[in-house]
Amino acid sequence: MADFRCIPIPSELGERWRRTGLDDAGNRLRRVTDAARPAEPGGSRLNGTGSPCRHCLQDATPGQELLLGSYRMPRPQGIYWTPSPIFVHAESCAGFDGINEIAPIVRNRLVSVRAYDRDHQCLYDLGHAGDGNAVEEPLLRALDAPRTAFVSIHTAKPGCMLCQVERV
Ligand SMILES: [Zn+2]
Repeated sequence: MADFRCIPIPSELGERWRRTGLDDAGNRLRRVTDAARPAEPGGSRLNGTGSPCRHCLQDATPGQELLLGSYRMPRPQGIYWTPSPIFVHAESCAGFDGINEIAPIVRNRLVSVRAYDRDHQCLYDLGHAGDGNAVEEPLLRALDAPRTAFVSIHTAKPGCMLCQVERV
């Protein structure tokens, strides 16, 4: 198995958003506060336990304030490029830096795994959608394929980017 890391957004991005109040598209950031969420049927955690911060890669806890804005994703470039709505903690937080560790925000929701090659072509046969608690197998399958340059993990329903993953 290749070593991998889940990549948070750059720390400078969160600092800029907090400083300017504007997202990457010039929209005014929305400030949202997470409320306590009702338990899901059967103890499932497929809607997350809070809004997912893309810097510490942790779900917000009730009462925490987040900034919601549009993120100009650095990749894939070209035909597959899209911006993504993301949450970032309103207060400074520590960037995630685990190795071989699935980001906590990927664990507890329905996710979509998208693999891309070095030309940023989507590798459809390595794509997957399912429970983030069981993401290792499809994620490692994508990362173990030599043609994969990077993987992007998104929420399966709204399609927002959670983090990207690359071999280290
Ligand atoms: Zn955070």
